[in-house]
Amino acid sequence: MNPVLSLCIPGSCVICGRRTHRISAFASGSAVCDHCVPMIPRIAAPERCEICSAPTTRSLSRCERCRRIDYSFNAHISVCEYRDASSSLIRAYKFNGRRSLRGLIAQLMAQELPFSWRAGEIVPVPPRRTSVRKRGYDAVGEVARGIGRVCGMPVERRLQSVGRHEQKALSYEGRLKNVSGKFRFIGPSTISRTPVVLVDDVFTTGATLSECARQLKTAGAREVFCLSFAMEL
Ligand SMILES: [Zn+2]
Ligand SMILES: [Zn+2]
Repeated sequence: MNPVLSLCIPGSCVICGRRTHRISAFASGSAVCDHCVPMIPRIAAPERCEICSAPTTRSLSRCERCRRIDYSFNAHISVCEYRDASSSLIRAYKFNGRRSLRGLIAQLMAQELPFSWRAGEIVPVPPRRTSVRKRGYDAVGEVARGIGRVCGMPVERRLQSVGRHEQKALSYEGRLKNVSGKFRFIGPSTISRTPVVLVDDVFTTGATLSECARQLKTAGAREVFCLSFAMEL
């Protein structure tokens, strides 16, 4: 079956499109077959950037982007690269109504969460105002709650989207300008746990996470670490 068609058909794997009864134990009921979970493209590089976790070369501690950009967050990690199986998964979850995939996505993200971050609280990047109405659910918020359950961490909604901010610009600078002032801290006023673990689905340039981290730090967060499902490299 064409994987694009399968996105809309319940009971078929959202990655390969095959109809299957062999559903991964991870993804009970979420329609990703056992063959496809290992196909999610993990970032397997011996040297990783200490800030954004992208692969680096020549034993550099920071990638080219992080030597140029001063992000407001302290560090970021991602489960996988955003391509092939992982982009099919995210598209099915966000745009084709496969809401049950939140369990698999949350499990995979929870596995990557360092133990040193788990004393803190999770804050999801808030949805755009129109997207919940369009999809019927807050995709990132539901994954964040799943990670919180797996890791035993509290999940707080501390940020809200303000106005419109379609991310069409390609560069970090363009995207940062686009999201500047588009997130508002909504409390509660004290952030007592540290660190704050900011959760998003896809890391593209880091502009959204940086702007959200800036708001949280202005509101008193000492450290903000970011966890995304997939990263564009
Ligand atoms: Zn499959
Ligand atoms: Zn980097």
